[in-house]
Amino acid sequence: NKQVVLKDYVSGFPKESDMHIIEGTVILKLPEASSEVLLIKNLYLSCDPYMRILMTQGASSYIPGSASHSPLTGYGVGRVLESGHPDYKKGDLVWGITKWEEYSLVSSDQTLFKIEHTDVPLSYYTGILGMPGMTAYVGFFELCSPKKGEKVFVSAASGAVGQLVGQFAKLAGCYVVGSAGSKEKVDLLKNKLGFDEAFNYKEESDLNAALKRCFPEGIDIYFENVGGKTLDAVLLNMRLHGRISVCGMISQYNLTQPEGVTNLANMIFKRIRMQGFMVSDSYNLYPKFLEFLLPHIREGKVVYVEDIAEGLENGPAALVGLYSGLNFGKQVLLVSRE
Ligand code: NDP
Repeated sequence: NKQVVLKDYVSGFPKESDMHIIEGTVILKLPEASSEVLLIKNLYLSCDPYMRILMTQGASSYIPGSASHSPLTGYGVGRVLESGHPDYKKGDLVWGITKWEEYSLVSSDQTLFKIEHTDVPLSYYTGILGMPGMTAYVGFFELCSPKKGEKVFVSAASGAVGQLVGQFAKLAGCYVVGSAGSKEKVDLLKNKLGFDEAFNYKEESDLNAALKRCFPEGIDIYFENVGGKTLDAVLLNMRLHGRISVCGMISQYNLTQPEGVTNLANMIFKRIRMQGFMVSDSYNLYPKFLEFLLPHIREGKVVYVEDIAEGLENGPAALVGLYSGLNFGKQVLLVSRE
């Protein structure tokens, strides 16, 4: 059972060499006393920015997951090989929390969903139809209550979550602008994903000026994926009663000292609602989400860009690449085709 194991806790930017590939020797067997556990073969693993947070010693106890000297924990898609649980049988496809290895014992009382719709790519359950898709859905529709004509800004806009927030904003009749870190990503936002406008934040010497250019009347909704300087510039450009969905702050995850936000008092003057959320609190909405999104995917009204790396041994590079923006769309790791 090949595994990707974290050697030790990480400080600063993660490196490929913080992980190694080992051949696990333990034979995985279902525990006799428990009916909660399933043996699965991992097919796709999801590379997610939050995985870096789990690599820090004393990581936030709000996020369950892996520590050092063990295989990484994360989301994935797998096929059930053995099941002690009456709701799952051999051959079923599932997505949820698993480990970075070929075979895993997963618990049905952790995040685990049976995959019912297989007329879409299976890898979608690591992205658009899995945790990142739910994140975009909950963070945008539930927290921001968008109204037609409102002005929306999304950071890390070409990524797993951001590309969907932009498309959801268009479905809601909003004007949407995204920021991303390369010309190719900006082109993707404007030409394929339907964003009204986009800019490369790495080429803007003054983020405040860039936002003023795109939003002369200000921003109603900000979908926050990056934090730091971007958040600070956004606060200056928010409108009265704006809403900020605090989804992630990837620019801060590798810093030993977080950057200060100096414009926070705008929250008060402008009566902004800024709300953090964890998608895992809202998985009860998954059926409603599928009902909303599947028809849009089938009709080609919502598209999804994936960046698929192949083989567990290429997992560390794919994961580390997220923190310098090497991924072009949702970063997936293909472990096995069947
Ligand atoms: P992405 O697919 O967008 O990949 C991460 C991207 O972040 C990179 O491609 C890069 O894009 C950008 N990035 C990396 N470093 C920086 C930096 N220093 N400053 C600005 N941008 C940077 O990831 P996801 O869509 O999966 O996740 C987006 C955010 O959502 C993350 O912050 C994540 O932690 C959060 N999240 C939160 C959840 C929740 O429950 N609250 C659930 C899921 C995700 P670029 O080239 O454009 O810089």
